[in-house]
Amino acid sequence: MNPRLTTYELTKNHRVSGSSNPGEEIKKISEIFATNVFGLAEMFEYLPERQYEKIVESLKKGKKIDLETAETVAKGMKKWAMDKGATHFTHWFQPMTGSTAEKHDAFFKPSMDYRISGVESLSAAELVQREPDASSFPSGGLRNTAQARGYSIWDPGSPAFILETALGKTLYIPSVYISYTGESLDHKTPLLKSIEVLNKAATAVCHYFDESVTNVISTLGWEQEYFLIDQSLYRARPDLMLTGRTLVGGNSAKNQQLEDHYFGSIPERVQDFIHDFEKEALKLGVPVLTRHNEVAPAQYECAPMFEELNVAVDHNLLCMEVLSRVATRHGLQVLLHEKPFAGVNGSGKHNNWSMATGDGRNLLSPGKDPGSNLSFLTFFIIVVKAINDNEELLRTAIAYPGNDHRLGANEAPPAIISVFTGSNMATILEGFKLKGLASGIRPVSDDLSIDVPTIPNIIADSTDRNRTSPFPFTGNKFEFRAVGSSANCAPPMTVLNTMVADVLVAFKTEVDAKIAAGQAKQAAIESVLMGYIADSERIIFNGDGYSEEWQAEAAKRGLSNNKNTPAALAPMVSPKAEALFSRHKIFTKKEMHARYEVALENYIKKLEIEAQILEELINTHVVPAAVDYLAKIGTALTGLADARFASSKDGLANRAGTIANYLTALETEFAAFHKAKASAGHAAAPAHAAHIAAHYPDHFNTIRTISDELETLVDDSLWKLPKYRELFFVK
Ligand code: ADP
Ligand code: MG
Repeated sequence: MNPRLTTYELTKNHRVSGSSNPGEEIKKISEIFATNVFGLAEMFEYLPERQYEKIVESLKKGKKIDLETAETVAKGMKKWAMDKGATHFTHWFQPMTGSTAEKHDAFFKPSMDYRISGVESLSAAELVQREPDASSFPSGGLRNTAQARGYSIWDPGSPAFILETALGKTLYIPSVYISYTGESLDHKTPLLKSIEVLNKAATAVCHYFDESVTNVISTLGWEQEYFLIDQSLYRARPDLMLTGRTLVGGNSAKNQQLEDHYFGSIPERVQDFIHDFEKEALKLGVPVLTRHNEVAPAQYECAPMFEELNVAVDHNLLCMEVLSRVATRHGLQVLLHEKPFAGVNGSGKHNNWSMATGDGRNLLSPGKDPGSNLSFLTFFIIVVKAINDNEELLRTAIAYPGNDHRLGANEAPPAIISVFTGSNMATILEGFKLKGLASGIRPVSDDLSIDVPTIPNIIADSTDRNRTSPFPFTGNKFEFRAVGSSANCAPPMTVLNTMVADVLVAFKTEVDAKIAAGQAKQAAIESVLMGYIADSERIIFNGDGYSEEWQAEAAKRGLSNNKNTPAALAPMVSPKAEALFSRHKIFTKKEMHARYEVALENYIKKLEIEAQILEELINTHVVPAAVDYLAKIGTALTGLADARFASSKDGLANRAGTIANYLTALETEFAAFHKAKASAGHAAAPAHAAHIAAHYPDHFNTIRTISDELETLVDDSLWKLPKYRELFFVK
């Protein structure tokens, strides 16, 4: 029996309508929001007043929590979790695997005394520190098996939460993960360091304008794109299951050409899934508010209200986890890969980023009159200069195999990093560069009026959208659009924070020197900023990022254009990067090299896995289907022995010839691929990865093209892999 057709039958039973927990439908979001989170209200209820105040204070001021407070928090947290029915707890951390890690322990401690059963407890020691005895996380040589200790340590800055499954509840405690010798082995530790570095640097600059600013937080609002397909069909695609993307598969005749999917009406099965997902996410405190269809068929997006960066990163990881879990309950599969399907758009994760004062004032908010808002202009220009100075490092932070398929494929920004300011800001910067605030340029936003009396006039935004820019300013925040859908937001945000902090520190030094030399504060600020604009002009690009001309122009401007992962990763170990990250104590040189090694290894392994699955698919699915079809044609030809069928026989024989030729072409291609593969020899990781990048994708594409031709020729009843049209449109 053809597995594809059997699965197709299965999908018919998959329709789930309504919630997977009937009786738990959302009535009011406010009633369920963050009910599974140990937040301030829960702390207030479960902690003694003095300890509650202490912890709030330490969270606000970023002070360390003492052991006595930790002990009380542990008690309160355990009581809260148990009241809610949790039996286990786990530290939840972000090793360099790209996903999260957890190891559950029971609260219950059995007694050695048979007369007593035991106690349920969570001690301060257990809350604060765990030792995952796994020496098998990637560390880039920072740990070897002989020195396997690593510690996960409670991060009080991100609230603990309870994850529910049908049969149980577990308390999750967000944590950092470091080695025995103190090196970071995760994505959260450097992120937290970068948040602190930016806080210090930005607060100091804020004081030029407002002495009362106590601290500055970074804010992130991510937008998560994903594909959603029927899970039975997914399971009949070994390539999707093992690599997250289809390695073969002809496009569906109808895909996204009609542009009818973006913001289209959401199919009922999907909408029920989304309701269910959002309910779970909202209970966990992830403020998901927006949902819509995306451009490609079967592609969707969800976006939350922005939050403090550390929490937002955790919430995005949680969102990806919950999406996948809830989808399974609906017989659906979420695909988070950047490019699951060739020929239609891939998925990204825009990172909307800004900075705000402790009391919530957005530092990138232009106000009514951006041209005379020196505080806004300062932060704006500093961000632009930061991107200008370190564009290649921002590209590094989003380099991994999935993103190689997306960047530069005319559906996502190119591999070149640039900043879109919008025309209003461009005009303001032009003026400011020459005369500072005295230029007095005031671009006006026009009323947009529509000639229908009942439609209200609206005010046009001061910036248009530019989908082709990797780093546009979108009114009151920057939107880093080149981050991939499966990514942890922490690495790109760590790099961005560090780059910006670096320029803030330099800015402060320069301005202070000018003031010390007798210049007035405002004049000093203006003159440094005027120089920064002049320095950063090459990074500003307000045109079409997809165009050929931009590739040429960017090269002239000396901007990097690293098209694949190994090339994009190389700047990570440049002296410049080492200096930047060690200057701010985000990474030591050793840590940078370790991360580089992990990323390269990841690239090599992922492409080797793809190579292996591709070959297996061709050998065990594609070739047998084609051979079966050839046999069928052979039988038909024998049946057409009569002379009257001579011309039809020619047609059939031609068809068989075409198929046979494709089969030969596959043989030839694989031989060439094996030869290319072997030519890597025993190269070291950087050379090996570069060799793979130079050869594998091209061979994969050629092999795929042949296979996709065969798919259009071979008898449908013999083709065993679910086709694109089924993956896209079976709902
Ligand atoms: P759009 O991108 O459609 O214009 P919005 O401007 O409302 O939509 O915002 C998109 C995302 O940007 C949302 O996730 C939102 O929370 C986030 N966002 C808005 N303001 C900020 C900010 N100051 N800092 C970080 N993210 C923000
Ligand atoms: Mg957006």
